[in-house]
Amino acid sequence: MCVTRRDFIKTTGVLGACALCCLPGFSQRSKFSAEPYTCEDELPTKFQLDVCTICQLNCVQCPTRQIRDENNHYGYMRFKDFKKFVDTNRVTAVELSSKGEIFLNPELLDIIKYAHKKNIILTAYSGVNGNDISDDVAEALVKYQIRDIQFSIDGASQEIYSLYRIGGDFDKVIANIKKINALKTKYNSEFPKMTWKYIMFGHNVCDMVKAKQMADELGMSMYYSTNNIPDYSPLTKKDHNFIKKVTKKEKYFLGFKTDLDVVKSEVCNTLFNVPQISYNGQLLGCCCNNYSFYKANAFETDLMTVLNNPDYLYSKRMITGQVPDDTSNPCSRCFAYKNMKKKGSFICA
Ligand code: SF4
Ligand code: SF4
Repeated sequence: MCVTRRDFIKTTGVLGACALCCLPGFSQRSKFSAEPYTCEDELPTKFQLDVCTICQLNCVQCPTRQIRDENNHYGYMRFKDFKKFVDTNRVTAVELSSKGEIFLNPELLDIIKYAHKKNIILTAYSGVNGNDISDDVAEALVKYQIRDIQFSIDGASQEIYSLYRIGGDFDKVIANIKKINALKTKYNSEFPKMTWKYIMFGHNVCDMVKAKQMADELGMSMYYSTNNIPDYSPLTKKDHNFIKKVTKKEKYFLGFKTDLDVVKSEVCNTLFNVPQISYNGQLLGCCCNNYSFYKANAFETDLMTVLNNPDYLYSKRMITGQVPDDTSNPCSRCFAYKNMKKKGSFICA
């Protein structure tokens, strides 16, 4: 395991540590280094694997539709690819991040079981719609201790929920959550912890109180976010005052397009420490990359080569403000990078 120079000096009190840099496992790499990796110990061990880009819903502002449609990028991660990836690399945790719905991957059960066998922590925190969860998979979520699942449910009734989640069935989602809760009781398990993510629109503020009550009854925590595109079903000043009362927060998450600090600390940072890989091995970088792929494939090439892809390193340098914008780079099209550039506020390398 790598020890950073700072950690080494802290634990040993040795300031002149330069002579020790060549020892195995010693790395001077900083958290947001945009330098190429030089040894396997430096590589990340946590990944976001996009296990399925297919979705049964047609949400009004689906953020992932663009990259899927532009590249005809529809599919799911095969178990054999997942197995090869985790067998070949040092993997400690996987976020089942998805540009579609993870539960539509027909090999998800095998993926969950194998991850458990390899002691890999699984989460699905970036969001599921939860409309279709088979009994087998629901049981596996509990039995194999998936840590967190975040359900995107923007309403407390079919009428309101389906205004945005087109094609979604509110009752089916709630039934699936109850099914998981019954299994948690059966297995006496605290996992998976479940969160109700509520994107607040002008049209669903009316359901917020009921949603909170239902979440409490279902043992779920609430996560509120505003809509990323404020022109669609906008919130009025009156809505904002009401939201502050319901959420009991003066400030709440304003969505990735508005809250640059959050996107920098929770999304851009993943380029360095939790890279995202698509279902077929293509490197995506971060979960907000809805623009284009890096020309690197983690199922065909070794991880060090993949993560040392020149365009990928250039992205890291762009978002740390070390190099100018390159319009062919995925980050160049991203709202977060545009915002950073405008404000001159980059990630601190
Ligand atoms: S559930 Fe997610 S992936 Fe599916 S259409 Fe809605 S926003 Fe897009
Ligand atoms: S600038 Fe955008 S695409 Fe690039 S790492 Fe940050 S959020 Fe991802």
